[in-house]
Amino acid sequence: MDFNDTAQEAIFRGEACAWLALNAPLVRDDTVSDLQWAKRWEKNKFDGGWSCIHWPKEYGGKNSTMVEQIIFTQEESQYAVLQNYPCFNFGQAMVAPVLMAYGTEEQKRRYLPKIASGEEVWCQLFSESCSGSDLAAMRTKAVKNKDNWIINGQKIWSSFAHYSDLGLMIARTDASLPKHKGLSCFVVEMDAPGITLQPIRDMTGSADFNEELFTDLHVTDTQRLGDIGEGWKITVATLMNERASLRGRKRAEDVDLLLALANQVKIDGEAAINNAAVRDKVADWWCKSSGLYYNGLRSLTAQSKGTDPGPEESIVKMVKQPMVQDIYAFCLELMEGHGAITSSDGTIQKDIFHAEFMASPGMRIAGGTDEILANIIADRVLHLPSDLRVDKWGPFNEIPSKF
Ligand SMILES: Cc1cc2nc3c(=O)[nH]c(=O)nc-3n(C[C@H](O)[C@H](O)[C@H](O)COP(=O)(O)OP(=O)(O)OC[C@H]3O[C@@H](n4cnc5c(N)ncnc54)[C@H](O)[C@@H]3O)c2cc1C
Repeated sequence: MDFNDTAQEAIFRGEACAWLALNAPLVRDDTVSDLQWAKRWEKNKFDGGWSCIHWPKEYGGKNSTMVEQIIFTQEESQYAVLQNYPCFNFGQAMVAPVLMAYGTEEQKRRYLPKIASGEEVWCQLFSESCSGSDLAAMRTKAVKNKDNWIINGQKIWSSFAHYSDLGLMIARTDASLPKHKGLSCFVVEMDAPGITLQPIRDMTGSADFNEELFTDLHVTDTQRLGDIGEGWKITVATLMNERASLRGRKRAEDVDLLLALANQVKIDGEAAINNAAVRDKVADWWCKSSGLYYNGLRSLTAQSKGTDPGPEESIVKMVKQPMVQDIYAFCLELMEGHGAITSSDGTIQKDIFHAEFMASPGMRIAGGTDEILANIIADRVLHLPSDLRVDKWGPFNEIPSKF
């Protein structure tokens, strides 16, 4: 396999670098919020013709290839000041592909350009308190009333919903069908009457996810995405794209941070990186990260040839997230007592390592827990016998439940 740019790709990379050199900010403007800062950059990219470039032109892209999109993202990721703000990920990496596959022409033209320009931020309204791993057991109901749907129920753990403009929701439209069959997808305007939103603070200290109550929320039938009853298919496609989006932009970004730290802190008066046990761990994680990176390139190649992300994308998250948790636990260990300090003293590590360590268990849960990913791989990649599913075939409203 040749990982070098072709002549044409090299020219494209040069153009991307030149545009970034002229337009990418080097210093964070502290007078604006994180969201405003991220939106400003997204809009700059869009206006310059560099946002979501692999999308069709009529939806805000540039008709570029997937490889060109990756090249641009690689070059963009060199600018530290533009990173680590994930609010556009759901819209661009998860909603956009399902809109392109299942949306009407009107929906594509209405929603996609504003996703590309960062003007509209999206959230995922899937999980409920009684259905996380068993997502198809959800109970939020959408009932048809002439040209509208009236939605009642509750969703939880919706990341960034508190500043989202739109949400992709899955709701039950026919409880007399088996649980995976009676679901449909809707686009919800997050400021519509009938939505009460409550942020939830997590153990990192931030309140990035939320609970929402829906009381007689009206959505029009033009806000339905896909056919009635097609909700599960769209949800699975969204989740496959979510797992694919976790591939990461660089080969071993977490190991790089550990390396920088191991060069900085000392063990017995010497840089920690000179300690054999530390080197052993760094080497192990470097190899694993490289394996993940190349696995990611393999699935990107498949995607660039038109294949949708499949169940094998679960491997990346299942291997990567426990490793990330171990890496940051080790960083805190290397920092001894300082590892518990969260206020920055000017060196990047102190805040980053603590924050990443505290966020890492959540990332083993979000988008499918380790156990669910192992089940998906066993079932759909290795074709091992499935779990017994007594609730899968009969009408949903006949499944015994306390809800
Ligand atoms: C940081 C974060 C962000 C999130 N963002 C969103 C979001 O934006 N939108 C959204 O809709 N949801 C979001 N979620 C919710 C997430 O998708 C669910 O938390 C996740 O799917 C697990 O569901 P649950 O919490 O109900 O746990 P449960 O499903 O109750 O699982 C509890 C435990 O049982 C295990 N388990 C369950 N079923 C099985 C089985 N069949 N076999 C083996 N073990 C099993 C699980 O692995 C887990 O360890 C987010 C979660 C987190 C942590």
